[in-house]
Amino acid sequence: MKHQGMVYLVGAGPGAWGLMTIKGLKLLESCDAVVYDHLASHHFLSCLKPGCRKVYVGKQAGRHSMSQEEISGLLVRLAKEGLTVVRLKGGDPFVFGRGGEEILALEENEIPWEIVPGVTSAVAVPELAGIPVTHRGVSRSFHVITGHTMGGEGATPDMRPYAALSGTLVFLMGFGQLSSIAAGLIAGGKSPDTPAAVIENGSLPNQRVLRAPLGSLAGEAIRAGLGTPAIIVVGEVAAFELCPKGALPLSGTTIGITGTPSFAARLRQALEREGADVRNVLEMKVIPYESSDEVQRAYRDLEGYTWLVLTSANGVQCFFEGLYRSGRDFRAVGHLKFAVIGKGTAGELEKYGFRPDFIPESYCARSLGEGLVKLLGKEDKVLLARAAMASKELPAVLSEAGIAWEDVPLYDVMPERREPEGETGALPAPLDYLVFASASGVRGFFGAMESRLASFGGTRRKPRLACIGDITAKALGEHGQHADVVASSYDIDGIVRSLEEDVSLRNESMTHLDIT
Ligand code: SAH
Repeated sequence: MKHQGMVYLVGAGPGAWGLMTIKGLKLLESCDAVVYDHLASHHFLSCLKPGCRKVYVGKQAGRHSMSQEEISGLLVRLAKEGLTVVRLKGGDPFVFGRGGEEILALEENEIPWEIVPGVTSAVAVPELAGIPVTHRGVSRSFHVITGHTMGGEGATPDMRPYAALSGTLVFLMGFGQLSSIAAGLIAGGKSPDTPAAVIENGSLPNQRVLRAPLGSLAGEAIRAGLGTPAIIVVGEVAAFELCPKGALPLSGTTIGITGTPSFAARLRQALEREGADVRNVLEMKVIPYESSDEVQRAYRDLEGYTWLVLTSANGVQCFFEGLYRSGRDFRAVGHLKFAVIGKGTAGELEKYGFRPDFIPESYCARSLGEGLVKLLGKEDKVLLARAAMASKELPAVLSEAGIAWEDVPLYDVMPERREPEGETGALPAPLDYLVFASASGVRGFFGAMESRLASFGGTRRKPRLACIGDITAKALGEHGQHADVVASSYDIDGIVRSLEEDVSLRNESMTHLDIT
């Protein structure tokens, strides 16, 4: 018998990735197909299992979106194929999400289903703009209203029933009708002085909040150039600004990253901690050369060396995993001293239970070489276990000092042929920066997706290019590109620091709108 398919209607929350539920995330990680629209965060794409089918059914400029019947039909079809389907919907599926209609269609076709509630934008978006939808002594209720069918053709809608409510009014899908809604409420009896707000892209790095009295809200929104998705809040609570003090240094900055999964994960974490919105643009995969004759010979002859030099976390992993698989074990390196290029590599080495004997002050190949030669003598023999395309600088410094060395290519990195996050329909925020962490990353990127570079910045110019050090900057130069930001030290902290400096310099030179 064919496996029975199943559909989960999952609320994705208001946009920020962290606001999705744990249950929703687990389903995304294990489902066979995901059907999503433009309000879902693009981040979910990176947690799907390989081979998961992604179907975009949302609206996009210039393209016709699927009708509700077509979407329901699609869910039924996928489930009948025996697939576990996640229907991912912005916010909560039952708040203006047409989740009920999809369920009725599934019921009609006897498809099993389950619903996973989401954080609705109706509450979360005002909340993240500092507006509590209820507040003791100020607002005892809140009302969520669709603005979709209001206004149009210059007529002022009859808003008396809403104007009579003393609680907070929250309008979804109302931005296009903002002036009709405001005029209707005032005509219905609300004071033009009632505090009100429009919040665009709530919870996202490009969130903008406009506060104005109801009477001038529409005019101000036009002046500020606000757009959708947006929520309108009307009521005394809109005067509240319950926001944490002091934005993080990279808040509002969208950063594309390239690199191997382990590096990208560490970089992402460091950037997100500082408030950045991070997008994986190009994943690089590590291809170990552990079965090559050179590597096998090096493992066999480890007793002939006195120092082992490792210049990346990937190198550390490849070296030790390969060593074990070669038939030897960690006792084979007991006599060796370890030199590493920086903190990231040192951290990886420590995971294998070894302490580095030398880390240069400045994390680059030249400092590593120069520091090493001070510690080494003629009797030493150095094993350089590095990426196939590693820079020639390190061996050159050692040779100059008359130190014997062997350079063994341990692995290579190649671009993984995968869609970058956010490239499958949902319009992601444009990138402010694109970060390269290695020369091979630069070559991989320009080999795979050079033509897309301009489009990553959205309607703006191309993103600013940031890199981890001189060698990566040089590789950019070889592709006719200028590195706008070069890390102050050649590690993740250095990248983060230099990006922060660049962001703050640029913010200073920009004039500010009177909105947050
Ligand atoms: N089911 C969703 C609402 C879908 S209706 C929920 O529970 O949140 C779509 C409307 O939601 C948009 O027109 C807009 O008014 C609002 N919306 C959704 N996400 C938003 C966001 N991040 N910022 C501002 N408004 C948002």
